[in-house]
Amino acid sequence: MAQLEPKGVYWLDNTLYLNITNQCSNCCYFCFKRYKSGVGGFNLKLLREPTIEKIETELSEVLHKRSWDGIVFCGFGEPTERLDVLVEVTKWIRRQHGKPIQIRLDTNGHGYTLNPNRDVALELKNAGIDKVSVSLNAGDKETYNEICKPTFPETYDAVLEFILKTKGLVELEVTAVRLPEVKLAKVQRVADKLGVKFKVREYIPCFF
Ligand code: SF4
Repeated sequence: MAQLEPKGVYWLDNTLYLNITNQCSNCCYFCFKRYKSGVGGFNLKLLREPTIEKIETELSEVLHKRSWDGIVFCGFGEPTERLDVLVEVTKWIRRQHGKPIQIRLDTNGHGYTLNPNRDVALELKNAGIDKVSVSLNAGDKETYNEICKPTFPETYDAVLEFILKTKGLVELEVTAVRLPEVKLAKVQRVADKLGVKFKVREYIPCFF
């Protein structure tokens, strides 16, 4: 079967998703991209990182086609690896869409590590992101390093810092995937201590 064209924009049910990068500063053992080409019939393995113009072109083809429930930055990479693209595309959506719609960022919370000297949380808020979902998956540094295999040292503490800096600005939740290695109660205790909402994500491998 011929390979489908890689997509920067895709949808599942009634939600639009943006796959703006395949780069990630984690290497989670459960990440779909380790063994899948995409989700829901879309190829998310980018041949090259899409330009802002390419994403906006793909978006314009579908943005007004339905009354979408929301738009989520979530693909086969970490969106804050390309903070400028994330910010510019969010602003473009706010200009083009014209109706209230939730724009959510799903992130590993490495935004400040990846973008030193930038006020990431404030930039996200000002661009028009109204919800951030931080994938934590561990209640301590050692477990985080085992499960997520971050590129940078001391990343766990940086994720906690990201959560604290972001929580007052936009709606925020901390998530953990339901897997045997992930101790959900421990992650929930961390979320409680930080004063943020906690959500369990079911691990449902999408078919492709
Ligand atoms: S943080 Fe997300 S994109 Fe990055 S490796 Fe983990 S699951 Fe994959």
